[in-house]
Formats: sequence, structure tokens, C-alpha cells
Amino acid sequence: MKPIDYVNTLQGTDSCYEYSYGNCLPLIARPWGMTNWTPQTDESNWIFTYNAKRLQGIRATHQPSPWMGDYGNFTIMPQTGRLIIGAKSRESAYKKEESFFSPYYFKTFLIRYQTHLEMTSTDRCAWLQVKFPLKQNSRIILQPFAGESQIIIKPEQKLVTGFTRANSGGIPNNFACYFAVLINQPVKNYGVFNNNHETINKCKNKAGNRIGAFIEFKDSSQVVDVKIGTSFVSIEQALENIKQEFSNKPFNAIKNESKKVWNQLLSRIEISGEETQKQTFYSCLYRALLFPHKFYEYRKGEKIHYSPYDGNIHKGILYTNNGFWDTYRTVYPFYSIIFPDYLKEILAGWVQVYRESGWFPTWPSPGHRACMTGTHIDAVMADAYVKGILDNFDINEIYNGLLKHAINKGCPHNTYGRIGIQYFNKSGYVPADKIPYSAAQTQDYAYDNFCIAQIAKGLKKEKDYDFLIKSSLNYQKLFDAKTGFIRGKNSDGSWRKPFNEFEWGGPYIEGSAWQWSWAVPHDPMGLIKIMGGKKACINKLDKLLKTPPFFTADNYNEEIHEMTEMALADFGQYAHSNQPSHNILFFYAYAGQPWKTQYWTRRVLTEMYGPGPDGFPGDEDNGEMSCWYLFNAMGLFPFCPGHPSYILNSPLFSKIILHLPGGKVVKIISKNNSPKNLYVKKVLLNKKEYSNTHITHQELVNNAELTFEMTDTPIKKLS
Ligand code: CA
Repeated sequence: MKPIDYVNTLQGTDSCYEYSYGNCLPLIARPWGMTNWTPQTDESNWIFTYNAKRLQGIRATHQPSPWMGDYGNFTIMPQTGRLIIGAKSRESAYKKEESFFSPYYFKTFLIRYQTHLEMTSTDRCAWLQVKFPLKQNSRIILQPFAGESQIIIKPEQKLVTGFTRANSGGIPNNFACYFAVLINQPVKNYGVFNNNHETINKCKNKAGNRIGAFIEFKDSSQVVDVKIGTSFVSIEQALENIKQEFSNKPFNAIKNESKKVWNQLLSRIEISGEETQKQTFYSCLYRALLFPHKFYEYRKGEKIHYSPYDGNIHKGILYTNNGFWDTYRTVYPFYSIIFPDYLKEILAGWVQVYRESGWFPTWPSPGHRACMTGTHIDAVMADAYVKGILDNFDINEIYNGLLKHAINKGCPHNTYGRIGIQYFNKSGYVPADKIPYSAAQTQDYAYDNFCIAQIAKGLKKEKDYDFLIKSSLNYQKLFDAKTGFIRGKNSDGSWRKPFNEFEWGGPYIEGSAWQWSWAVPHDPMGLIKIMGGKKACINKLDKLLKTPPFFTADNYNEEIHEMTEMALADFGQYAHSNQPSHNILFFYAYAGQPWKTQYWTRRVLTEMYGPGPDGFPGDEDNGEMSCWYLFNAMGLFPFCPGHPSYILNSPLFSKIILHLPGGKVVKIISKNNSPKNLYVKKVLLNKKEYSNTHITHQELVNNAELTFEMTDTPIKKLS
């Protein structure tokens, strides 16, 4: 078995609007590929749900999350018999258990149409192989989504081209996803259809809302090859992408190439352990390598891209589809260890966003979008900087872009920059009576300033450093010693009232005081101190895990799925279903009881994650939920991105070998590890006893050999 054989792309796919087991899609894609492909069971943003019994086609998708929506999306479906266009009307029964799902290849049988469908994909294209049961009366349907589209059919060339402007925001007016569909069998009949499914036979060129195409074959007794190219540049470029990515290779060569690409990246981590846990691990590793997406293409050997910021074609690379509010926590620190080579290109893509729009992104998809709090690209860049990954970048340029977040007013619609930064700089906090999510914003701005300060320090910008580092302690202005929580404060200095520790939303986002009061990754000891010291902190953590999962939904129009997930998880107020809780358990280690971190994180790893359709305790979120698992399974955690170190925790696997670029090898061995022996007795670094609670990034990536001696009894050292 190779790592790729452990990946289950159906992990986390049993999700719906009300409850997320990951909100994942079984994507057939290349790592960080520009266009992803998935079987579609539903035209909504959920696209594919595990328990659906019928397929509506293969969707070309760029969606980073159902909450952000898709763009440049369209569906292709093979069909026999009468032409029926609507997704609901044309769907066909399929047997999931007899289908083959993987990152590099998908195979199924459409029972209604007695048609075999196989597919593989490249960075920007897909290849469908269709085996119809009939010699005639067989076709493919291409249907874009709402928005202007154009279809151009050239039957003699066996070619359909066009574009769709389907989008969910974050685009200039000239945005389009172009496509080219190249078929290997002669075309007999063809035509277009509109949004109402009215058809025009033999129509070769039509534009309008949701115009789609159907193509029927002269003789479909042979296998019908359907090569689909996508481009954000032009139709010619979509054809060019087919040429470049498939050249003259046969289907199996492309399929094997994709398998090899995935396997090479997955093989950077070698693990010894139990089979189900290996499936979980490699399925998470697959999820860690899907986002962000490349947003560039090759013209005459040169990288070019369409800019969703200014609508022009530029030279060079661009990336998109990332919620930094999620990913800064674990995904980028994970890349910094295992994939620093790929990380450099991704970071250059984010710098390009700054060049084209004047601001670094907060939630690019494909252009600037408004979502969540803070400007956590600050943490992404600072983390790479302190680890030496930005050595060949113009660091002054990056610094100037990030510093804008701390000083300049951002976009009033919150698509970039920090909303209410003027209040933060004047009073030291974002006031609850002026700005939504004011406590969360204050905490995030404080931490983000800490991150920018790390670059200021390196560049010897002392004045900036002083300003940034001082304001990084501003979270303390919102700590209320009476209640023991971080709270919303009004512009006149009074606390926002009434206070209810279970109130979700208001001054917080997607959580309450219980989850948000820990969002101080840069100053855990400072927070512990104002909480009343280590003992008080431990009492608070114990209480958090014991307090029933109460919440109020009054600030929302309904119970949001994160509330439901916390309510049903049985971990008290510890809401692993969402990111704010992801650093909470490590406060035990800072407060002197690391065995409780070891106990609880082991429970999260084994009780909340799995390789199946219910494999995540909430939204997976662009690799974040997966990288939390990967880190903790390796016995490490990046508590404060922007600081080059990792907390040493309890590894899940007995042996982990990291094969890093440049031939470096990191070994993480845990002796006598078992479900009972989850406590760390002793740590050795390069065969010498190691008493630090953290390991530095440089120590780790320079061929570290970490040995954990495990035991079934908590080792209670006084600290
Ligand atoms: Ca989330």
C-alpha cells in the first residue's frame, strides 16, 4: 500500500446546511490545481452529499467552501435516450460502493443510462471517458450555472467552446471562466438550450443567461473521449491548456501521472501505525494539499494570469481560494516544515495580490471577499519570515503592505484591511457599539500586530516595532477580571451589557466568551497572568470542558451549524467544530499541566476525526481542520504562527519520518505508544534528554530525531 491508497476522498462528505462533518467534496484534482472536479448530486453549494443516490454530472468547481460559493462552474453529463436537460430531471442512480473515488481517478456506472463513466484530471483540465450502451441517441450535456454564458459549437472540429460568468462575488465585470470541450467521435446532432431548458437544434453560437449545449454522436459504440480545458484568460488558452497538459498521452498515462504526483507529495510523511488511523492521516494530508488554488496558466512557456483585482492579464503567478482566518493557524506552519518549496510560490502569489490591488488579501475567492475577522495574512507572512522562507523576497515590499493593515483604513465593506482600525489605534480596542465582532476584531488585530512586529524587528524598524508590539497587548483592555472573560466594550469605556457567557456572535464571531477568551496566541503567559495565574487558568479550562454546551442564537437568525456541532459533541464548551477553539487545549501546557493537553488532544484525534464521510467534527476549511490533526498526530503544534516554534505534544503514531526537500530527514519516534500510553514521560532530541516544552523550527527541520518515551500515567512535574 502506498500513501495514495490510504486516501478516502469521501472523508467529510456527509454534510448538510445544518450540520457539517467537514463540508468536503470528493475532489478529483491535482495538488493546488486551478480547476477541481467532483461528481454532483445537487446543484446547490453542497454539490455532493454522501447519502445521495443519484448523480447529475461532473462539476467543474472552484468553490473553497459552501459558505463562499462557486464561480466559473459548469456541469457535464453523459445521457442516452430522450434529451432531458434539468439537473434534477436528468439525474441517474449510481452505486457508490461500486464506484471508485480517488484524488486522481473517478469511475462510476450511471444505471439509468447504462453508461460507464471514468475520469482523471490535471491542473486545469479533465478527461472523461464515456462508454455508452447504444450506437446512437447518446450525448453529452454541458450546463453552466446562473449568469451570462456563451456556447460556440464547431461540429466538424468536434469542438465546443465558450465561457461562463457564474460567480459569487469578488470579481471585475469582465470575469469569465472559459472552456473548451474536445470530443474524439464525429458529431451527428447538436444544439443549445437556455435557462428554461428550451432548445435550439443545430444552433452553433448563442450567448445569454445560462446557455448550455448538447452534442450527439454519429456512432457511440466506441469509447467517447471528452477532454475539457478551462482558463480564466481566453478560449484559445483553454484549448492551449488541453494541449499542454494532455499532449498526446493516452488516458491511462494522465491518470498514472496524477497518481504519481499525489503519491510523491503524500510520501513526504511516512507513518507506522494502525490502518484506520493511517487512512485518516493520509486523507487529511490530501485535504491539506487542495487549497489555495493556482490561478495562473502558461502561454508560450511564460506564466500569465487573469487578475480578479483589475481585470487585466498579467505576467507571473497568482493564487486564490483561501480563508486566512482559518488557514494561518495550521496550514501555513505545516507547509513551512513539509512543503517549504511549494510554500514559496504560494506566498509569491499573495504578494502579487498586493501588487495588483494595493492590499494583501483576507479571503480571496477569486478576488477580495468579505468574511470573518482580522488580517491573518500578517501571520502567514511573519511565520514564513521568521523561518527564513522569505529570504529571496523583497521583504520591504511585503512589510509595507502588511503595515497598511495596522495604520490605514481598509475597505469599508471589509473585503480587505481592518474594519474599525481607527478606533483600535485611538482607544486600544474596537468598540462594540460601532463595529460588529468587536472583541474578536480587537484580539485578532492585537495578534496580527505582534506578527507584523516580528518583521519590523528583523528590518530594525524600531519605532514601528515599539508601536506594534505595545498594541499587541491591547487584548488586555477587553479582559474583565470580574467575569474572567474577554468582553465587548463600548466607545465610552463601559462594558457591553448584559453579559451572557453563552452569547454567540455580538462582540464575538461564531462563538461566545467561552471560546473567544483564549484567542491570544502571541501572549499565553500574559493571558494566564491576568486570568489570575496558572491555577486559575487550569480551573477555567477544567470548567470549560465540564460546562454544558449551552449557547444562544439570538444574534443570528437561526441556530448556525457550529452551534449544533458543539451541542452534540460532548466536549463541554470546547468547540473543536470551529477554529477559535483550536488552541485552547494547549493552555494546559502553558499553565503547567501538559498531561491534560496530551489527554484531551488524544481524545480529539481519536474521537472527533476519522477517514469516513463523518470524518470531521465541523467545517474542514481549506486544510485547517486537517492540519490540526496532522500536527497533533506528529506530536507537534504551532501555537503561535509568527514565532518559529512548536509545542511538543503526544504523538499518535509510534514512528513518523518526514522526508523534507534537500534530503533532510526528521524522525519522530514514540516508544511504548498505545491508546493507554498516551502520556509523555521523557523527550529526547538527537538522543539527548530535552526538557523544553517547545522545539524550534530550525532544530526540527535540521534532521531532528525526536524520541518520546510514553507511559500510562500522567507525569506531574512541578513548574
Ligand atoms: Ca470554521
